Amino acid sequence: MYDVAIIGGGPAGLTAAIYARRARLKTLLVESSTTVGQAVVTADIENYPGFPGVVSGFDLIEKFKKQARNFGTEFKVGDVKGIARHCEGVPKGRPKQSQSMGLLRRFWRLAMTDGSVDALSVIVASGARPRKLGIPGEEKFRGRGVSYCAVCDASFFKSKNIALIGGGDTAVEEAIFLTKFASGVTLVHRRDRLRATKILQEKAVANKKIKFIWNSTVSEIAGSDKAGSLKIKNTKTGEEKDFPCEGVFIFVGYIPNTNFLKVVLKLDKNGYVIADDDMKTSKRGIFAAGDVRKKLLRQVVTAAGDGATAAYSARLYVEDLKGIAYK
Ligand code: NAP
Repeated sequence: MYDVAIIGGGPAGLTAAIYARRARLKTLLVESSTTVGQAVVTADIENYPGFPGVVSGFDLIEKFKKQARNFGTEFKVGDVKGIARHCEGVPKGRPKQSQSMGLLRRFWRLAMTDGSVDALSVIVASGARPRKLGIPGEEKFRGRGVSYCAVCDASFFKSKNIALIGGGDTAVEEAIFLTKFASGVTLVHRRDRLRATKILQEKAVANKKIKFIWNSTVSEIAGSDKAGSLKIKNTKTGEEKDFPCEGVFIFVGYIPNTNFLKVVLKLDKNGYVIADDDMKTSKRGIFAAGDVRKKLLRQVVTAAGDGATAAYSARLYVEDLKGIAYK
């Protein structure tokens, strides 16, 4: 029986682990075997305090992980399929139980691909995954010219002309990174202005390798062996054209990894977990942290902050639970 099981090995989960272990909670962190964290695949992070200049997402997360391990976090690789509340009798010989608890000990059981994990509290820090456009050619050419990860695939596009779809921080940041490899990057955006932070906009506009196609949506990715062109429609004029390219990167936002939580926790209409300022969710003993949570700003630093708060709340919950059960 763990005091806290943390689902997710990104900045939120790893920070929660550091704080939980420093509170001497018996802590297990479950890392997915199938999804890769967003921070880890971010090429250059320049807004995480304490790292002037840039640090790669991979290096930063490795430091988080080392710190969590140093404090004694246990790690397990696997995917959580569901969470359910369980109650069982407190073994004989334990100090007398309170009336409110009777003989019961309440805990959460995580159903895993291989077996299960029991914990008094759970911190959900399962993050989010890239959103797909859902257009013809996207699946067909995935891994053959279509990519959702610049760090993973940039080197395949050396001296190539590539297209990039999206207008948020991720799209613009990755467009800038890709210019280190590609001969040119054309950013296709559905509106006439970027959503990205101003400093990123300024950098992209000043970068001679980046061109923009505004007010345009992509309806198809075409090619033979590999992606070779985009069907683009101007949303103002209705004009359609084929845009030749040697690869396409798609960065149109994220979808929270909450499928396994749907019947357990209250989620918003986009699937994000609803949690309060203390990271408490709709179920007692389950806390949420990081990008999986409904919130205004999704950053490494805000994920880390959530993780610290979630671990503190879990500590209070667990101590309260033990105090009542074993008084
Ligand atoms: P985002 O902010 O949700 O932006 C998604 C972009 O994709 C928007 O420009 C959106 O267009 C466009 N889009 C969405 N659906 C589309 C569709 N079906 N067809 C065409 N375009 C579509 O997502 P993000 O850029 O991945 O960022 C996610 C979060 O992480 C944000 O909170 C962001 O600030 C944060 N982040 C921060 C940093 C940093 O600080 N360095 C880096 C990366 C991410 P519209 O603009 O028209 O809606």
